[in-house]
Amino acid sequence: MEVLPVSRPARVPAPPKPQVHLADLDAAARRAAVEALGEPGFRADQLSRHYFGRLADSAEEMTDLPAGRREALRQALLPRLLIAERELSCDDGMTRKTLWRAGDGAFVESVLMRYPGRVTICVSSQAGCGMACPFCATGQSGLTRNLSAGEIVTQVFNAAKLLTARAMAGGPGRISNVVFMGMGEPLANYAAVITAIRRMTDPVPHGLGISRRAVTLSTIGLVPAIRRLAGEGLPVRLAVSLHSPDDALRDELVPVNRRWKVADVLAAAWDYAAATGRRVSIEYAMIRDVNDQPWRADALAGLLAGRPVHVNLIPLNPTPGSRWTASDPAVAAEFEGRIAAANIPVTVRDTRGREIDGACGQLAARADRGRPAADIAAGRPR
Ligand code: SAH
Repeated sequence: MEVLPVSRPARVPAPPKPQVHLADLDAAARRAAVEALGEPGFRADQLSRHYFGRLADSAEEMTDLPAGRREALRQALLPRLLIAERELSCDDGMTRKTLWRAGDGAFVESVLMRYPGRVTICVSSQAGCGMACPFCATGQSGLTRNLSAGEIVTQVFNAAKLLTARAMAGGPGRISNVVFMGMGEPLANYAAVITAIRRMTDPVPHGLGISRRAVTLSTIGLVPAIRRLAGEGLPVRLAVSLHSPDDALRDELVPVNRRWKVADVLAAAWDYAAATGRRVSIEYAMIRDVNDQPWRADALAGLLAGRPVHVNLIPLNPTPGSRWTASDPAVAAEFEGRIAAANIPVTVRDTRGREIDGACGQLAARADRGRPAADIAAGRPR
């Protein structure tokens, strides 16, 4: 028998991957990881209780672990995946944006918003975004890479910790809502996003114990992934970024519409609502003289009437250098009125965080943007 030489592909350096983190792993994998370090499996539960239950991520806090092994376990399973590079706040401290630097130097942002009776964290699922929507700041930057589940959960963990540490205006609190409306297209990073949602919503010690119903996943409309999500048994709220009722305009505003049309996206949304029993949110950025005509309001109402839906109108936050701006308030009110007249629940989204570039569509993480938190606190002008 002759052994034939195997042709090997030239070595291509693998893209840098974030270190594995407790939040990437399910219960069985957490035990296996701990055992691989020569520790009994139950240490996985101890670590998980510290991290998810007590929001503790430093070795000194883990006094029930053997002193000599604490730091090794911490380093192996709770690596510091994101370092806060810059914090910006506005709205009297009730809105807070954090710029995070990952291990490979990628930047992402998250925004924490405090309202009477609830606290929402807006998280990023990718560094940058590949969807190229021309009105969105993140869309202009292109995709750097997918975030790991650990990196997504870390954004929520750090915010939760900040709230318990009473370090945010308004006193101690808890995260009540998570919205995937930061940087990135969550359904283009499907596996990590699903894992992250499970870690956020599984009860302690397996996760942070946030209600699944309080998680909103916002998508540009990747139809096959919406259909897959409907089968996960995770009743998160789905938000669909529609922005136009007609394909001619949506092809321009949302380039992926050339692949999945308005009708396909809405059909998937209605199936999602049927599978999960949850109303779908339709996101509509109001862009002056582009998508805000009364006839478009009527066309939108025609598509949505009688469906399990809620419409969110978002005044456009113009990105630097953009030719577009927000709709005139009277025009937006007329648009809203026409939707409401068709008995469709509709609200105009408040645009928190504008002055720190933390509002919808403004996240374009770069270390040299924004102002140090101290400047804002001191009231120094831009
Ligand atoms: N990729 C996901 C999540 C991204 S952002 C998605 O497209 O849904 C969340 C919402 O902000 C989306 O509805 C998005 O279209 C909207 N958005 C993006 N840029 C905006 C801008 N400049 N002004 C107002 N809303 C914007």
